[in-house]
Amino acid sequence: MARLGLALSALLIVFTVAGLQSQRPRAGTSHQGKAYRFNKVADGVYHAVGTGTLAVVGNSSVIVNDDDVIVVDDHVSPAAAWVLLEELKDITSKPVRTVINTHFHFDHAHGNQIFDKDVAIIGHEFTREMLAGGKSIQMPLYKNYLAGITGQIADLKKRIAAESDAGKKSDLERQLRVAENNSASQAELKPTPPNVTLETRMTLHRRFAGSDREVQIRFLGRAHTAGDVVVYLPKERIVCTGDMLTTGLSNMSDAFVNEWPGTLDELKKLDFVTVLPGHGEAFTDRSKIDYFQAYLRDVWTEVSRLKQQGISPEEAARRADLTKHKDHFPIQGPGVPLIAVTRIYEVIDRGGRD
Ligand SMILES: [Zn+2]
Repeated sequence: MARLGLALSALLIVFTVAGLQSQRPRAGTSHQGKAYRFNKVADGVYHAVGTGTLAVVGNSSVIVNDDDVIVVDDHVSPAAAWVLLEELKDITSKPVRTVINTHFHFDHAHGNQIFDKDVAIIGHEFTREMLAGGKSIQMPLYKNYLAGITGQIADLKKRIAAESDAGKKSDLERQLRVAENNSASQAELKPTPPNVTLETRMTLHRRFAGSDREVQIRFLGRAHTAGDVVVYLPKERIVCTGDMLTTGLSNMSDAFVNEWPGTLDELKKLDFVTVLPGHGEAFTDRSKIDYFQAYLRDVWTEVSRLKQQGISPEEAARRADLTKHKDHFPIQGPGVPLIAVTRIYEVIDRGGRD
């Protein structure tokens, strides 16, 4: 029954998103009305990027084999994962038999519960521990996300009440239904941990277009969390990096910022051309890794220095100056997110332990 409810709310989201976007076509895309764009990266490999609807933040990667499909990361809610499965039918009719969680955060693992028991959900042992322990719903970023949905619903209701133009009003009403469906889906959420775990490495052997395909799942060290894994396709020279490496600055709420650059050094040892990040578009420019390592080293040094001076986290968050990295990251002036500072202080206080 719960499953039927979820399926219906997912369908409703597809329907309402379709309605929403048919009124507001996005320039330069032929995927109007969809929650995901499936960007083909290689034969049978797609980067599924959210089109910006509320139900979807962040990306999945999709690996289509001869007999099955592997999905890397499954989004913010059961509803968003249902939409992914629905839209996946545009590129393949093969069944999803394997899901890989790059880490435990809500925007990557809260779709886990929609998969049948016979689907392998693979993640690091730490990822299992965190999801089983309810950490994905305790994290402040998830609470912010929920507050954002609640705020958006309240705001839309106000705007609907004040709107006199019938066309605009019905557009706002459609947006409200999308937000309410997403919110309802969050209420049905049961964080579901991986049912297959690894500590350092696991390889899936599949067939694609009649030849062998290797899908390596690698833990390269602590970084964005204590259990990030990357998914590496050696033949296709593609790596899915989750939030260990995105096109921007990943959140640092559970990070080991001091260890992260070293883990990225391990990543650099893999022979890949294309990066499919957990947020942002796919890229091939490896210098992005160097830029991010430099940022991480500097944010650690700068925040540690302020802590040594006895400065409060709040003040350090205002003062920490990373503006020299502004050519590579969206940095307006001095200041870093308080959540990053709090975490760095915590890691220092614990002597680097978790
Ligand atoms: Zn994320």
